[in-house]
Amino acid sequence: MQSAIPVFQPAIGADTLAAVAEAFRIGWLGMGSTTQTFEDRIGERLGIGSGRVLATNTGTSALHLALLAADVGPGDEVIVPSFNFIADVQAIVACGAAPVFCDIEPTTLGIDVGRAEALISPRTRAILPLHFAGVPCDLDGVRRLALQHGLRVVEDATHALGSMHDGRPIGSGGDLVCFSFDPVKIITSIDGGAVVAPDAATLERMRRQRLLGIDRDTIERYRNRRAWDYEVREVGFRYHLTNVNAAIGLSQLARLDAFIARRQEVCRFYNRALAGLPDVMLPRTDFEGVAPFIYTIRVAAARRAEIIERLRGRGVDIGIHFLPCHSQPLCAAMRRGPLPVTERVSAEILTLPLHSEMSDATAAYVAAAVCEAVAEPGVVMAGGAAL
Ligand SMILES: *Cc1c(COP(=O)(O)O)cnc(C)c1O
Repeated sequence: MQSAIPVFQPAIGADTLAAVAEAFRIGWLGMGSTTQTFEDRIGERLGIGSGRVLATNTGTSALHLALLAADVGPGDEVIVPSFNFIADVQAIVACGAAPVFCDIEPTTLGIDVGRAEALISPRTRAILPLHFAGVPCDLDGVRRLALQHGLRVVEDATHALGSMHDGRPIGSGGDLVCFSFDPVKIITSIDGGAVVAPDAATLERMRRQRLLGIDRDTIERYRNRRAWDYEVREVGFRYHLTNVNAAIGLSQLARLDAFIARRQEVCRFYNRALAGLPDVMLPRTDFEGVAPFIYTIRVAAARRAEIIERLRGRGVDIGIHFLPCHSQPLCAAMRRGPLPVTERVSAEILTLPLHSEMSDATAAYVAAAVCEAVAEPGVVMAGGAAL
């Protein structure tokens, strides 16, 4: 049998390999001028120009720096959807703060703003919404709530590079916005991330914290040089992105729009090919303005394991996004509101393969395999498919 179709498949071409070779030829391997160019290009792509983007070594470190920039510290609470990757929880905990788990709403699978409001306490400092799978959450609702209660908003846009809200790219407005370029995201720098800051002063502070609290070093490094004297006044980390990683990220960013276009085509094909399958729920979007990170469907919880096995038997790998954070042992004692949609969706959801260079034949094979795997007799979804 041929090897399985993976859930994720990074699109690394000759362009990326040439960019790596050029980075090694330049020979300044640490953070340097290519890092700054990557930051500038991300700013251009988001339509906010230069001086607002800080590149980091992971999306998780971007979230950590952004939360610190939002003045999240010991004793504070951050409202975050439990339907999420554990990175967000760890970034909050790394600030000495406590996550408070909020439910999602069933259409976007993003934070339920009404339920978030009910979780606000005197200790709440920030809201950390996620644009799940690239579909924007109710950002207007989140911003309204934050304004009413004096909260900061740190957006987890790690799934949403290139997605649009109100006709503008996610990351072009708002408070603090974080991206990821890890190996499976729409574009990769192998590992990497970025924060968009609301103003230059915030960016400067994050810049120092990114490199061990050192004040002058970045300016020199952006010229591929080092500053030998410096002053350190605050806590910092080693969160910078290297020239080599930035070169990879730049080569990928140049292809972002082509990646998004192909992913939208495949997602729309899946939506058509899987429409009408009994007891299957498809994403409630036509992917207009969405940069799709993953394509998920929902099946009856009681049948999910069996359907996944059947798909694997047909050579189609399946992912699960997400196991809810609140059910992790680490999070057992953490405060939470009611989580009925999170519980239900996380038991039903599965992720189909989606690649930026997926062929029509592979997409058709996956869709046919899903139709077959679902059609075989099994337990009927309790209570129907609608939430
Ligand atoms: C990928 C991801 C992150 C963290 O990004 P890394 O670059 O892997 O550290 C955070 N949140 C979500 C939802 C993610 O999918």
